[in-house]
Amino acid sequence: MGLFKMIKRWQEAMYKRKLVKARAKGICPDCRGFGYDPLMLQDHFTLNAKDFDCVGCKGTGSYTEWAKNNGHIRK
Ligand SMILES: [Zn+2]
Repeated sequence: MGLFKMIKRWQEAMYKRKLVKARAKGICPDCRGFGYDPLMLQDHFTLNAKDFDCVGCKGTGSYTEWAKNNGHIRK
């Protein structure tokens, strides 16, 4: 459990860094604008989607779409 928490914390830190970059570029932080998540293909534990479309941006690769789906739109 300790290791799992460490990994989770590390992933969150990386994710936050990714968010900043993705917002600047206007691309989805989950898939880096590819429309699918390469991590999801490798990680069988998170493989609960029926297909490999990025769940964050619904396969569009757009930050705007991702933000809309994840409640990160700044008003
Ligand atoms: Zn995406």
